Amino acid sequence: MTTNSTPVSGRHYLAIPGPSVMPDAVLQAMHRAAPNIYDGELIDMMPGLTADLRRVARTEHHVAIYIANGHGVWEAALANTIAPGERVLVPATGRFAHGWALTAQGLGIETQILDFGKSSPWDMDQIADALRADTGHLIKAVLAVHVDTSTSIRNNVPALRALLDELNHPALLMADCIASMGCDRFEMDAWGVDVAVTGSQKGLMVPPGTAFVFFNDKAAAKRASMPRVSGYWDWTPRAHPDEFYQYFNGTAPTHHLYGLRQALDMIHREGMENVWSRHEVLARAIWAACEVWAEGCAVTMNVSDPEFRSYAVTSLRLDQGRGTALRNWVEGNLGLTLGIGLGMAEPDDPKRDDFFRLGHMGHLNGHMVMGMLGGVEAGLAALDVPRGKGALEAAAAVIGHG
Ligand SMILES: *Cc1c(COP(=O)(O)O)cnc(C)c1O
Repeated sequence: MTTNSTPVSGRHYLAIPGPSVMPDAVLQAMHRAAPNIYDGELIDMMPGLTADLRRVARTEHHVAIYIANGHGVWEAALANTIAPGERVLVPATGRFAHGWALTAQGLGIETQILDFGKSSPWDMDQIADALRADTGHLIKAVLAVHVDTSTSIRNNVPALRALLDELNHPALLMADCIASMGCDRFEMDAWGVDVAVTGSQKGLMVPPGTAFVFFNDKAAAKRASMPRVSGYWDWTPRAHPDEFYQYFNGTAPTHHLYGLRQALDMIHREGMENVWSRHEVLARAIWAACEVWAEGCAVTMNVSDPEFRSYAVTSLRLDQGRGTALRNWVEGNLGLTLGIGLGMAEPDDPKRDDFFRLGHMGHLNGHMVMGMLGGVEAGLAALDVPRGKGALEAAAAVIGHG
């Protein structure tokens, strides 16, 4: 599809699971001449910035900033804690856990993958069996994707902590919160997470290009025992720099920092609890509409149990390859871009065109969600898709009642 098929009038809406919609205030904060990197405002703002980042992750511990995307902090987390030849356990629901495992393999780390498919959450019994079998404690970390963005499954991270504690297993608990942070509740310290990673371009509402690794003292101790960590990936000077450049191991991502400052101001002005409950209500409104559409047996939600559905993204299927047709229609006619299906079918499988996703991360409110759902309703009408009646009313009722 070419961009000239997108309507030119009205504001385009990118309703995909990252990059997310950015607030105008964030864009405006970035729109400035190159700032002084030797002294002044930019340097002075760093302690407050890292403190406010830690408040988003709900941690009192350390944060390192990288000029990177999510894949970069996957590598950063591993490079600081797991030596070549050591083992990690990877409970996988959907695609992203496999991506993190691939990164580990590239670093010479042994991966033990438990694959739970594309529509079920972690099976805690199977994870327990794997940990119990590891009597020699060869598993040094569990790589836990909190929200898998391909399937829209949200896994139960506190239950994993409880399991590690119950079995007295010393592995680090590492969480990928790239999709979830700032959307689904995540509390690093209270949940006993040792390392958490996220990026700027989803719930944090800043362009892609900066990413964050949060780590506690247990993870820092593992870092101290590593035979070597490259100067670039080493999180220690980044988290505790003597000089400004050490935050980034080089030139600062100057404009991103101003955007992030503004985004964190907005998040904390609203309050983390309010941010999470806003995402919950908006997600429940989206599910309400999807459940009505599903009555026609053409539209299916990927995750049947609401307890395991993320508040950040919803993965759907529309039969006969019409997921792609719907995406094309709403993009070409309404200026609304929906997420492509990701990792749900093999590239040569015609069913891959069934899958699509609704992104609902970050800078989002009720009228945007109603507009997006209205756009999908129009697209389903245009394609003559059989569906239940009253999807928008069902969504409006959720938003109306909170
Ligand atoms: C987006 C995402 C990633 C990858 O992030 P990139 O910035 O695309 O490298 C990894 N894990 C999850 C859960 C994600 O949502």
